[in-house]
Amino acid sequence: MPELPECEKSRRKVADHCLNRTIEAVEYGEVSHMNLPGGNARERLVGHRFTETRRHGKAIFAGSKTGPWIAVRLGMTGSLRPFDADGEAPDYAKVTFVFEGDRRLAFRNPRKFGVLEVIEDPEAYIAETGLGPDAMEIGADGFAEVIGGTKGAVKSALMAQTKIAGLGNLWSDETLFRAGVAPDAAANRLSDDTLGQLYSEMRHVLSHLLDNNADYGKIPDDWLFPHRTDGADCPACGGTIRKSKVGGRSAFACDTHQKTA
Ligand SMILES: [Zn+2]
Repeated sequence: MPELPECEKSRRKVADHCLNRTIEAVEYGEVSHMNLPGGNARERLVGHRFTETRRHGKAIFAGSKTGPWIAVRLGMTGSLRPFDADGEAPDYAKVTFVFEGDRRLAFRNPRKFGVLEVIEDPEAYIAETGLGPDAMEIGADGFAEVIGGTKGAVKSALMAQTKIAGLGNLWSDETLFRAGVAPDAAANRLSDDTLGQLYSEMRHVLSHLLDNNADYGKIPDDWLFPHRTDGADCPACGGTIRKSKVGGRSAFACDTHQKTA
């Protein structure tokens, strides 16, 4: 599922290829499992241009000072893909923005849970949907307060978008792995030092991915990511990677160097 770095990659594509072009049409593909705006909302985009983009956590926005905005949630496997009309169109395009000239933007969504909405203002949308601070914007003190003040498993706290927006399954596991914290450790029993460590490892993981535009080929071999298999050798110690369920989500963690306290 796309998390903060993958969503940023999609945002950058829109910013690089789709700004300042008049929207001539918004076309829908097969959309049986997506929430999409009705005709009136869709028509409001026609004639406008996207002049800027934003991202908050896993929400991607494009719009302008004067016009409506779109808010996009990529869902499980979605992405935003600019292309040209004379080139090959992406498959699984559920929504295609037709810009003046040949430029197009596809919201590609092979699986479920993607959402596209027409909104007035990203700030209001962020407030209304109850998203917490973006994971790359929150400071160390705010992080310690929010995560350290949460009951239940630390992995669940890291993934709760109302607390911190942007982390999902992969990068919460990676953060915990690097910080030596077990995913089922009680968040409100972590020490200040451990919370500080978690914060800096979260920044490290996300910064690396952002710097490399979420290119998984550039992930170092000492990360958990290349070893996310039940029974794999831990790349950090002599332990074994184990798969478990935490808060209903699968978690991969080392049975040796990741501690519950
Ligand atoms: Zn280990």
